[in-house]
Amino acid sequence: PQLANQIAAGEVVERPASVIKELVENSLDAGATRVDIEIDKGGSKLIKIQDNGSGIIKSELALALSRHATSKLSSLDDLDAILSFGFRGEALASISSVSRLTLTSRTAEQTEAWQAYTEGSDMAVKIIPAAHPVGTSIEAVDLFFNTPARRRFLKSDKTEFTHIDEWLKRIALVKPEIHFTLKHNGKQVRNYRPANNQDQYLMRLAQVSGKAFAEQALEINSQHEGLKLSGFIQSPYFDSPNSDTQFFYVNGRLIRDRLVSHAVRQAFSEYGTGEQTSYVLMLEIEPNQVDVNVHPAKHEVRFHQSRYVHDYILQALQSALIQVTQ
Ligand code: ADP
Ligand code: MG
Repeated sequence: PQLANQIAAGEVVERPASVIKELVENSLDAGATRVDIEIDKGGSKLIKIQDNGSGIIKSELALALSRHATSKLSSLDDLDAILSFGFRGEALASISSVSRLTLTSRTAEQTEAWQAYTEGSDMAVKIIPAAHPVGTSIEAVDLFFNTPARRRFLKSDKTEFTHIDEWLKRIALVKPEIHFTLKHNGKQVRNYRPANNQDQYLMRLAQVSGKAFAEQALEINSQHEGLKLSGFIQSPYFDSPNSDTQFFYVNGRLIRDRLVSHAVRQAFSEYGTGEQTSYVLMLEIEPNQVDVNVHPAKHEVRFHQSRYVHDYILQALQSALIQVTQ
């Protein structure tokens, strides 16, 4: 199982940012409203995630670390949903197989927290009492310490930090109600406070994408049959058009899609800023109208009615743009 886990880790765990993605997604699945991320040396020395989610009961701590252990499957529908996010109880096992991992957790029913520790192995998990508020902390130390080839593949601390920071920006914009913090080498570098209304969301947008974009952005809020598009696009009057922020989410998942970028470009082409356009857009669509690539690293989707989706986005953007330019 050790080798199998290390092989699986190659798919799920490519670099510190992918570890953080997996761990934070688990925190969100557990209903956390606050997630604190701490890293040292771009995450290669330490990755620590603390959340205030539901926690893991003592009897399931060791299980959570074993392969194909997921608490998230209850029906075939669930299986589809989980496959679409790419994970089937592999993340924790994979991460623990390539790091020294400590899992500390407490549920609301428990008066005390418990801690499990593994070192590059999913076998002998030792569980001891610990102090921790309700929720979970996971600490992965010395990532890839036992897979030197992969460790050498890591880039500079700065580059690894940038990957983490970029990923955090994306999740911060689509999970506004969650409080995220990020500490690097002992210093807090990000603090995304919960955004529960439009003004607070714009403050978060300013943190992520710059004040200028947030101050001048146009709001998109459109609905048509089974489709809903919301978010912000650059104003056509923006003095310094740029493509720094181009985030498109489908049902909460960040994707890159030619069709979508084409629709945005076309909407802006009349204003002479086709390529140089920033946007944060969320599309909601019936899940059965879209195929999500099952590979976790690929951020791609396929719309069943792609022409229709394209034209809908184009039209929604055009009508917002026309309102301010008329
Ligand atoms: P998956 O998320 O696909 O179920 P993981 O390996 O990521 O697989 O996690 C295994 C299990 O550990 C989860 O199903 C969940 O029960 C538990 N778990 C992991 N992280 C947390 C967390 N932060 N809070 C509560 N439970 C967690
Ligand atoms: Mg998971």
